[in-house]
Amino acid sequence: MSQDTPRVTNFIRHIIDGDLANGKHASVVTRFPPEPNGYLHIGHAKSICLNFGIGNDYQGKTHLRFDDTNPAKEDIDFVNSIKEDVKWLGFQWAGDIRYSSNYFEQLFDFAVELIKNGKAFVCQLDSEQMREYRGSLTTPGKDSPWRERSVDENLDLFQRMRDGEFAEGSHSLRAKIDMSSPNIKMRDPIIYRIRFVEHHQTGNKWCIYPMYDFTHCISDAIEGITHSLCTLEFEDHRPLYDWVINNISIDVHPQQIEFSRLNLEYTVMSKRKLATLVEDKLVSGWNDPRMPTIAGMRRRGYTAQSIVEFCKRIGVTKQENVIEMSALDSCIREDLDVKAPRAMAVLDPIKLIIENYPSDYVEELNVANHPKDESMGKRIVPFTKELFIDRADFREEANKKYKRLVIDKEVRLRGAYVIKALRCDKDDNGEITTIYCTYDDETLGKKPSDGRSVKGVIHWVSASEGLNAEIRVYDRLFNVPNPAASEDFSSVLNADSLVVYHHAMIEPSLAKAIPEAAYQFEREGYFCADNIDSSPEKLVFNRTVGLRDTWANDKK
Ligand code: ATP
Ligand code: MG
Repeated sequence: MSQDTPRVTNFIRHIIDGDLANGKHASVVTRFPPEPNGYLHIGHAKSICLNFGIGNDYQGKTHLRFDDTNPAKEDIDFVNSIKEDVKWLGFQWAGDIRYSSNYFEQLFDFAVELIKNGKAFVCQLDSEQMREYRGSLTTPGKDSPWRERSVDENLDLFQRMRDGEFAEGSHSLRAKIDMSSPNIKMRDPIIYRIRFVEHHQTGNKWCIYPMYDFTHCISDAIEGITHSLCTLEFEDHRPLYDWVINNISIDVHPQQIEFSRLNLEYTVMSKRKLATLVEDKLVSGWNDPRMPTIAGMRRRGYTAQSIVEFCKRIGVTKQENVIEMSALDSCIREDLDVKAPRAMAVLDPIKLIIENYPSDYVEELNVANHPKDESMGKRIVPFTKELFIDRADFREEANKKYKRLVIDKEVRLRGAYVIKALRCDKDDNGEITTIYCTYDDETLGKKPSDGRSVKGVIHWVSASEGLNAEIRVYDRLFNVPNPAASEDFSSVLNADSLVVYHHAMIEPSLAKAIPEAAYQFEREGYFCADNIDSSPEKLVFNRTVGLRDTWANDKK
């Protein structure tokens, strides 16, 4: 954070300020604890900015810990993508990457400690019986018939669970708390279960795996986390978090604090739902530029700064709310307006021939890279007798509101001359194929000398010097603000969420576009070369965002 930006504050920072002021803590340690069962999404970015932001601003530390207790759904690819995304957002974790699985041996020992103190028991109810015994929100649960086994028997059975003697689901280790607690999470929750599944970190060493509620608090305590920040759905897990820490011999007691998750309109934000989109091939992958994943947004051209700024603007509270997509779009537009050099690209090209311009002549026009920032310099844009303009920028006839090219009317070619359309050719289907015009050679960089007023400006690319490119224009993936409420995603998908222009033409300077580097294509929006599919042989650009918010009007 630079010196002159005011420091953000929120209720969590107020708690931390208090803890530092009254000496509860001398310094702050937070953690970001993703489960490696999918790619990170913009909701995770909120948690990353919160945790690492606190670590940075308080000169404390932030750990990156993979919460990897469910080997069946986890994968090393996810581990790698998560590391990459956190770094790309601009954050660095303190020390090595951590894994909950690093603590399996200690977790086992703490479970043994609970057993020895009569606070955990091996249960042999199957999952259906377990559900029956659990009770409901309105009725208390019933004690398991296995609850009163002796410590020795529990120790023996737990060791044999670890040794692989029992089938999955036949035995579990449960905390002995209170089957009549109003909080169902406290009704003798399972803390270990049997799973004969290979783990991406520990291989086949274990066939019993600790549950989230047992693992998370102990991992926090082992690492000396001071403030364990999580989303609101963990509020009723907090008594269990505290119970575990209070009932094992560990000196540290991290404080769990909940905040509301980020919800965004027109998208889904749970890894399970995002995984469905990927598995059902409704998108091209986790990094499809329409996905709200960090990898997808990066590929589409969102900058890390714009995502961090967005997280700053939405703030951190306990109120559940849904953020409009336009809030995110404003952040990226504001960032790119300043940073992105301008360039010209014609998405849907139509040939334009300037009859009074010399053939075989390439005029090198010097065009500013940014209208408001001279330090971004100039580039050469070749101008020739034959150009391409966008099909949408020409009409044979139009009323006065149409400020583009019309027969017998004038328009300025951006950075070049004023032209006047004469006539056009059409094919058998009545589609316009070529427009013929003349140019006024007195109008390069100046207004017509006789005071004619030319209002419209259109963009163009030289037919002979321009390059072919594929341009992908994205829109929101869903047609409804809350797609998560739908049973079937395919029925609420926006059919126009991806429009591919296979024959777009771009100015030659774009040949050297670096993947992910932003450009403003004049009058079209912000674009970047695709970080996977673009190559010197086949240039592919993604539209990050349009120049203005048109969604509301388009959909009326
Ligand atoms: P999902 O529901 O998307 O699968 P999760 O909570 O299961 O998310 P984790 O990998 O467990 O995903 O999350 C890592 C951290 O990110 C947790 O602290 C979690 O609370 C936080 N987080 C996840 N989703 C959001 C969100 N939408 N807004 C804010 N924080 C989030
Ligand atoms: Mg989770």
